This record gives sequence, C-alpha cells and structure tokens, in this order.
Amino acid sequence: MQLTVLGCYGPYPPQGGCCSGYLLQEENFNLLIDCGNGVLSRLQEHLDYRNLNAVILSHLHADHVSDIMIMRYGLEIAYKSGLRSKPLPLYAPGTPEAEFERLPYKNAYAVNTQVPGTDLQAGPFTIQTRTGIHAVPSLAMRIESPSGTLVYSSDTEYYCDLEEFASGADLFLCEANFLEVDIEKSLPNHLSSAQAAQIAAAAGVKRLLLTHHHPEGDLEVSLAEAQKYFTAAEQAREGEKYIISAK
Ligand SMILES: [Zn+2]
Ligand SMILES: [Zn+2]
Repeated sequence: MQLTVLGCYGPYPPQGGCCSGYLLQEENFNLLIDCGNGVLSRLQEHLDYRNLNAVILSHLHADHVSDIMIMRYGLEIAYKSGLRSKPLPLYAPGTPEAEFERLPYKNAYAVNTQVPGTDLQAGPFTIQTRTGIHAVPSLAMRIESPSGTLVYSSDTEYYCDLEEFASGADLFLCEANFLEVDIEKSLPNHLSSAQAAQIAAAAGVKRLLLTHHHPEGDLEVSLAEAQKYFTAAEQAREGEKYIISAK
C-alpha cells in the first residue's frame, strides 16, 4: 500500500501549497482521499486522473472538496472522448445536505452516501469510518488491506474513541492544525500536534504522520510539541510517498 501526499494544508494553502488530498494505491487500484484545492493539479504529477478508481471525502468543507467541482469537467470530457467509460465512484458523508447536493454533475461521479459504522469495500481496501468532532460531520477512516493499515483522522477535535479506532495502525495520518497554545485557548474543531501524538502513543501505532498543517504555523514547533509524546512523529510533506506495510 502506497500513500502519496498531494496536499496537506488547511483551511487554506500557503504559496505553492495545496489543501487536503492523498492518493492511496495498491494492486493498480487508485483511491483518492479528499480533493481540496490544488489536488487535481498535484495528482497529475503522479497519475492520470482518468485512471482513478474511487474517491472518498472525509467531510464537506471546501478545503477537502473544492477540486471535485473542477475534476468533473475533465471527467465529462473524458467520457465524451472515450477515455473513460464509467462514472467515478464518489463516497461522502450525506450532510450538510446543501453541500452534498452539489456533488453530482452529469455523469462525472457515481455519488454514494458513506454512513459511519458501515464498511465500504473499494478494490483491495476495506474502509471503516467513525464520526469525529468537527463543525460538520467528519469521518475518520480505517483503511485495511492484506498488506497494511492506514488510519486517517480527518478534521476533528480530540475524542477518546479515536485511540481505539487507530489501534495498531501501520501508519496514522492525523491532523495537527493547532499548537498547544491554541488548545489552551479552547479553540474548537482541530487537534494539536501534541494531542495527535498522545493519541498515536495510546493507540500503539507504528508511524505517525502529522497533517492538515496551518499555512501560518511553524512546522518545527509543531513537530517538537509532538515528539514529546511520540518521538518518531513526522510532518507530512507534499509530494512524498510513504509505503504502508504490516511487516
Ligand atoms: Zn480541513
Ligand atoms: Zn474541516
């Protein structure tokens, strides 16, 4: 299982950066997790977007969704020119309804509601979801294949179930939009890097990748705060590939 970080900033990118998007590949199956602004362009550095097999959106905030509204034009052209024959399966939480209703477009996507607690099979990946604590319904994902396990927090505040959900993951991709000073001010909706690291330690994950970087944040400070609790914590980097293996 190979993860490519396409974009890892939120809620907006810095110059040259990109919002949330992760390409997960195994056995020639190409799954796109989140599709924020800039992701379609970045994706094409690694894969012809017409060869995507499925997309899953963690939640319907624009920094995770906005390039869905752009990729549809390319897909529509691909169908007309015979370069793609089937709508792209797209899984997303069904609310907020007004946002969900914006996802279908002609034949671009086969849109499905992803209900938390139900397993989804996408190619070699079995995907479980769990609702986090965020301004809108936001789905953490546990994605397993015979070769390994990826857990992605999505955007969320701290909740204790996340430790159990991430238990034993080979790679834990966890949002860390905040620093400890933000948590002390009781800012809502996101985790600090220290909280992500504490969850990673409690869950016994093998590898922790911090993501959803704040565009004005200091990644060195964020990493140092995380490493107090999980010494092997790393910051996600755009363009990097990570092999996920149970071995
Ligand atoms: Zn976000
Ligand atoms: Zn969000």
